[in-house]
Amino acid sequence: MSDLIRMNASDLVEAMNAGQVSSVEITQAHLDRIAAVDGDVHAFLHVDSKGALDAAAAVDAQRADGQNLSALAGVPLGLKDILASKGLPTTCGSKMLEGWIPPYDATVVTKLRDAGIPILGKTNMDEFAMGSSTEHSAYGPTHNPWDLERIPGGSGGGSSACLAAFEAPLAIGSDTGGSIRQPAAVTGTVGVKPTYGGVSRYGVVALASSLDQVGPCARNVLDTALLHSVIAGHDPRDSTSINKPVPDVVGAARRGDVKGMKIGVVRELSGEGFQAGVQTRFDETVTLLEGLGAEVVEVSCPNFPHALAAYYLILPSECSSNLAKFDGIRFGLRVGDDGSKSVEQVMSETRAAGFGPEVIRRIMLGTYALSAGYYDAYYGQAQKIRTLIAQDFAKAFAQVDVLISPTAPTTAFKIGEKMADPVSMYLNDVATIPVNLAGLPGMSLPIGLAPEDNLPVGLQIMAPAMADDRLYNVGAAIERELLSKWGGPIWAQAPELAGA
Ligand code: GLN
Repeated sequence: MSDLIRMNASDLVEAMNAGQVSSVEITQAHLDRIAAVDGDVHAFLHVDSKGALDAAAAVDAQRADGQNLSALAGVPLGLKDILASKGLPTTCGSKMLEGWIPPYDATVVTKLRDAGIPILGKTNMDEFAMGSSTEHSAYGPTHNPWDLERIPGGSGGGSSACLAAFEAPLAIGSDTGGSIRQPAAVTGTVGVKPTYGGVSRYGVVALASSLDQVGPCARNVLDTALLHSVIAGHDPRDSTSINKPVPDVVGAARRGDVKGMKIGVVRELSGEGFQAGVQTRFDETVTLLEGLGAEVVEVSCPNFPHALAAYYLILPSECSSNLAKFDGIRFGLRVGDDGSKSVEQVMSETRAAGFGPEVIRRIMLGTYALSAGYYDAYYGQAQKIRTLIAQDFAKAFAQVDVLISPTAPTTAFKIGEKMADPVSMYLNDVATIPVNLAGLPGMSLPIGLAPEDNLPVGLQIMAPAMADDRLYNVGAAIERELLSKWGGPIWAQAPELAGA
């Protein structure tokens, strides 16, 4: 078997079932690829060759034994460093957690291990998942495999870049305001933020608990659906977990039929701020959907323009509380503990040394927004906007089955371009934030390259709560058409990496 690193996960499983290749060989091929290119890409913070190969060997033995295996058994994966993984470092891209080795696995990690999915390592991310470029990682940025001078999106840039660089066929991300979808968009990969509560958050380091959701990432729609069905489902250890059957995302990904569906284009997610080539590819996709028999209409969501402002009050408020536990006493870093200082001094020195500037900015903003006298004016107002946005969605879904928009306003920007101006960084998530505020599912999938820079453009699909299957149905229909139009996957158009 050649080119194992470029195969789809579903094809790798078929090849393993046919006895053509082993999980050890597949896993080794990806470890070799990581060794060859990750010096340039920096998708991984930590690589666990031994753990991955041991897991692969165990699956190979089970397969040889004729045991009933999961649909992704033996296919390796990159895990965002925000999920607690027993015996493996979990840093959240922060110096604050340097050296912390969790004594337990997140529920999602347990599910991956139970499904026989070897974990290649932990992927790079903006510190505590705050950012849209992975430049806020305390361990240095990840580079976009399409152009190493550009960002891979954020906060989960490592999880998207490892797919685009063929270092892994599957990855796990987390999405609080777009951190799965926006990196997918700018790297030409697929990423899904499931319905809030659809995937357990137990063992996931919390950024903003009312928004956070873990989700699957891959290079095509079916692989993403297969991974989604592995990680989703009720977890009694997460009080926000939904106790209902998981939508049939795999069936939907295999179907891909939009005939007779009603699809809404969100009027407010276009125009000013959206790159011309992004809009061009989006408009072509609308025509493509009409050609497939869908009825596409324009829908107005009048409160969406306020989503970003509401998010940047709600998120800092929640994170200022969630990050209070990083005090130098319980986890990771401790600074100034020389016996001469008070506990408060040690906590204060540790937090000043351990957190980077973006994290400190948000903790200060959140603390201010929640303080007496300002709570109603800021946090309370933001929560009202949140309700209005949920109502916009409810009205829209009374008319249409799914909504669509570009995932990100621009293609990947240059490393360093937006670091000096936090608001310009925040604007990358204008289109992805509304579904987090409303708890809904969203997908990004590649719809081509922008003519002006030859970089990937993503389409966002949004659906009602627990209708995650609609994302996969619509995504698969579009993907099938584009594959035949392009004569192959989008990544075939990407430049070769030097280490290849
Ligand atoms: N880029 C957004 C932010 O900085 C989203 C982060 C995320 O989804 N984790 O908050």
